Amino acid sequence: MPSIRFNRNRVKLNRLLGIRARLALLALILVAPLMLERTRSLESARTRQIALASEEFFALARQSADMQREVIMSVETVLKSTAYVRASATGVSRSCDMMRASLPATLPWIRTLMIAGRDGRIQCSTNNQYVGLDFSDRPYFRGAQEARDFVFSDYLLSKPTHMPIVMAAYPVAAITGEPDAVMLASVNLEWMSKIMSNLGGRPGITAVLIDSEGTVLAAPADRTELIGRPLDSVPLLSAVAESAMSSSKPTETTSFTAADGSKRAITFTRIADTGSRLIVSIDETRVTAAIDREIHNAYLQAGLVCLIVLLGALIAAEKLIVGPVNMLAATAKRFGLGHWSARVATKNLPSEFVPLAKSFNAMAAKLGQRERELVAANDRLTVMASIDMLSGLANRRGFQNRIDVEWERAQQTDSEVSLLMIDVDHFKLYNDTYGHPEGDACLSRLGEALAQIAGATTAFAGRYGGEEFCLLLPGMNASEALEVGEQVRTAVLDLELPHATSAHQCVTVSVGVASARPNDLLAPSDLIEAADAALYAAKHRGRNAVVAHGFVDVDESDDSESNVARVG
Ligand code: GH3
Ligand code: MG
Ligand code: MG
Repeated sequence: MPSIRFNRNRVKLNRLLGIRARLALLALILVAPLMLERTRSLESARTRQIALASEEFFALARQSADMQREVIMSVETVLKSTAYVRASATGVSRSCDMMRASLPATLPWIRTLMIAGRDGRIQCSTNNQYVGLDFSDRPYFRGAQEARDFVFSDYLLSKPTHMPIVMAAYPVAAITGEPDAVMLASVNLEWMSKIMSNLGGRPGITAVLIDSEGTVLAAPADRTELIGRPLDSVPLLSAVAESAMSSSKPTETTSFTAADGSKRAITFTRIADTGSRLIVSIDETRVTAAIDREIHNAYLQAGLVCLIVLLGALIAAEKLIVGPVNMLAATAKRFGLGHWSARVATKNLPSEFVPLAKSFNAMAAKLGQRERELVAANDRLTVMASIDMLSGLANRRGFQNRIDVEWERAQQTDSEVSLLMIDVDHFKLYNDTYGHPEGDACLSRLGEALAQIAGATTAFAGRYGGEEFCLLLPGMNASEALEVGEQVRTAVLDLELPHATSAHQCVTVSVGVASARPNDLLAPSDLIEAADAALYAAKHRGRNAVVAHGFVDVDESDDSESNVARVG
C-alpha cells in the first residue's frame, strides 16, 4: 500500500513539474547558495554596522565627558593657582589683581571669579557687583571650607543676576590647613552646553549633563530648554532618572524601553571630582533604521537579481529546450497524421537536439517509404483479389465492383447496361471424362476467348464462379447484347474443344442475356438475376443456346448455326 501511494504521489509531482517548473527549480537551486551567502554577508554587515554605530556613540559620550571634565579642571586650576597666591604672605591684594588678570579670554566658560573671605564676604571679584555680598550661607562655600578641597556646586540661580550657573569653590585651607578665604568661580552653563554640541542634532540621541541632584546643567543647543529641569521631567530619560542618580560607577551602560516605546541604550559617565553626570541615550531603532534601510535595499537588489536569473532561466529554457521540444512534438504529431514529408529544421536547434531531429527525419523518411511500399503492395493485392488466376479474367469480386461502377455511370448518363451469364454445358461430365486438370485447361481457353470478345466490344469479362462466366456490356441494348451472346456461343463452338460425353461432341456454352436502364427502383442484382433466369431458360432449351430476358417473342429458328431465344 505505501509503495502504491508513493507512486501516485510521484505521478502527481511529475504532472506538476513541467519542464519550465523543473528548470525554474534548477535555477533556484543554483541561485540559492549565492542568495544564502549574500544574506549571511548582509546580516554580518548589519551586525558590524550596528557595532560600529554603538562604538561611535560611546566614543562620543566619552569625548563629551572628557571635555566637560577638562572645563571643570581648568576652573579648578585657575582657583587653585589663585589660592596659592592668596596663601602666600603678600597674597591678599596680589591675589585679587592676579584673579582679575586671570579671567582669561581663553577660559570663556568662567563668568566671574571671586575671593570670599573666611567670613563668606566677597573681598574682590571680576564683577564688582558681588563685592561685599555674603556667601557664607552658600552650601558650596561651606562645603569647600569643611572639605578643604575643591567643590563643584549643583545647579544654581545666581542671586544677583538670576542666571543659571554652577559655582566652583577652592579654599585656601586646602593649602595652608588653616580656615581662610575661599576662591570662587561661577561657570557659564551655556558653555557647558556648547561643549555638548557634538552630541546635538543627531537623530535618536539625547544627551544631558546633570548635577548631583539630577537637575539638568547642560544640553546640546537643540535641547537647551531642558537646562534647570529635573531629570525625571525630561521626556525620554525620566525612566532612568533614578538609576542614573544612584549609579556609583564612573561609567555605566544599560538599555531600557522609553515612554514612547523606543528601545534605548544609555550611558552615565561621572565627571570626576564633581557630583555631575553626563547622560547620553540613543534610540537603537533610529540608529539601526538607516542600517536596516541599507540592508533592506541590498535584499531588494539581491531579490531582483534572483528574479532576473529566474526569468533569464525561464526565457532560456523556453528558447533552448521547451521551444525545440514543442517543435519536435508538433512534427511528430504531423507524422501521426500521415504527413511523412514533414521535416524538423535542424538549423536553429541546439546541437544536443540535432541527433534527435535527424533520427526523427530519418524515421519519417523510412516510414514514408514503407507507406508507399505498403500502398503499392495493397494496390497489387487489390488487383490480385479481383482477378481469377485460372482464366485471367476478373473474378466475382472484380465483376461486382465493375458492375456497381457501370451501373452508376449508366444511371447518370441514362444509358443501358447489358449482361451475359455464360455457363459451360455438362462440365461435370467433362471433368469426369477428361479429368480436373483438363477441365481447368478448358476453362482457361474459354477465358481467353471471352477476353478477346470483350476487347473487341468494349465489354468487361469475368469468371462469375465455377464454370460460369459473365460479360458486362455497358451502353448496349438488349438486341446488341443478344448479338454478342450469339458471338460468344459460336466463338466457343469454333474452339472445337472435344467433349465426348456431350451431345454436341464438343464444348458448348449456354448464354443468358439481360438488359436494363438503371434507375432508382432497380439494382445491379436485378440485372444479374434476370441474366441468370435467361441462362436457366437457355439450359432448358437444350443448352448451346442464347436466351434474352424480357422478350416475349421467341426466335425458334432451325438454323443450327444460330440458337438464340428470347424469354419473357
Ligand atoms: P450444366 O450443363 O447443367 O451446367 O451441367 P454441368 O455439369 O456443367 O453443371 P454442374 O453444376 O452439375 O457441374 C459443374 C461442374 O463444374 C462441377 C465442377 O466439378 C466443375 N467445376 C467447377 N469449377 C471448376 C474448376 O475450377 N475446374 C474444374 N476442372 N472443374 C470445375
Ligand atoms: Mg454451372
Ligand atoms: Mg454447367
